[in-house]
Amino acid sequence: MGVKEKCIIHLDMDAFYASVEVLDNPELRGWPVIVGGIGLRGVVSAASYEAREFGVHSAQPIATARRLCPHGVYLPVRMSRYKEISDRIFEIFRRFTPLVEPLSLDEAFLDVTASRALFGSPPSIAREIRRLVREEVGLTVSAGVAPTKMAAKIASDLDKPDGLTIVPANKVREFLNPLPIGKLWGVGQATQKNMKLLGIETIGDLARLPEDLLHRKFGTYGRQLWGLARGGDDRSVNPQREVKSIGAEDTFPVDINGLTTVKAELLRLSIRVARRLRRHGFLSRTVTLKVKYSDFKQVTRAETLGWATDQAREVYQAVCGMLAETSAGSRSVRLLGISLSKLELASRQPEPTLLAEPESCTKGRGLERALDRISEKYGDRAVVPATLLDKVKK
Ligand SMILES: [Mg+2]
Repeated sequence: MGVKEKCIIHLDMDAFYASVEVLDNPELRGWPVIVGGIGLRGVVSAASYEAREFGVHSAQPIATARRLCPHGVYLPVRMSRYKEISDRIFEIFRRFTPLVEPLSLDEAFLDVTASRALFGSPPSIAREIRRLVREEVGLTVSAGVAPTKMAAKIASDLDKPDGLTIVPANKVREFLNPLPIGKLWGVGQATQKNMKLLGIETIGDLARLPEDLLHRKFGTYGRQLWGLARGGDDRSVNPQREVKSIGAEDTFPVDINGLTTVKAELLRLSIRVARRLRRHGFLSRTVTLKVKYSDFKQVTRAETLGWATDQAREVYQAVCGMLAETSAGSRSVRLLGISLSKLELASRQPEPTLLAEPESCTKGRGLERALDRISEKYGDRAVVPATLLDKVKK
């Protein structure tokens, strides 16, 4: 073990979206609750543990879930509410260390190495966090405590829901050895199959093989896996982890056809993604268009602008320009997506009154900000350009 042992806690809320729904509607307690996209092609975003007993799990098509669990309670995603609860949970995490790396709304790594003097041993910090989340927010969070990120993450998952698993610094290999090889980071089903052919079923099986053999069979990747299997993982908790892109996409209930329809959908997506960008206070330089055809073949096209924008109109113009490089006008389209990357904080930009920006642009920005305020108050569908009105009326 290293000279300076790290203490890492991985925290993961239990069935987060579904648990928030039960928190807000206590009469749902004990029911199979499924949160997800409503509609023919929606997928499950979260399933309560009661629902999981029927084989329902996240990323499953809603149609499948309904077949497995016909009497379940199906609810739409309420992202702004989950974000609110998430902020309160992260506020609790940050009471114990500034080194908090969010992995999603409901999951984080904490490096508590330097917190011990103030707050006690890592296991007691984990217990205290679990208690505070339960008391102040009313939800359960599972925790794993270990000297490495990978071991902490595996540990938090072992005793879910409402579990706490502690891996002492000198017991990492003992902890990993009996676990199935699929638990190792970066091991997908294809690798699992190949490993099985070599007689490797557990992490311990892998760790006992000579490094050379793994290198010969799987290259650099094999060498990395061998290291991980032996408990090596020196990645540190990164609190500066940044949002790299912001996107919006839609899978249509029925495939869409024709340039006019495609453009109408792209306009709607541009408005949504630009609004999301502004809500996070970012500007973007790179616009990416994704088109998936009815045969599931997919193309992406990207364009980097000469300036950074948070304007739906400019995003829309960029994706329309890229449409010519796709077959979206002549083939059936199943999915459209727009993502914005090369993000910069809006506050770092010069004020819009500076010379470079033409007046129309400043005006546009003011207008879109006003629309944001209205839609925050009255909902996403309150303000839309006239070309989309007939869609919204439906
Ligand atoms: Mg979770």
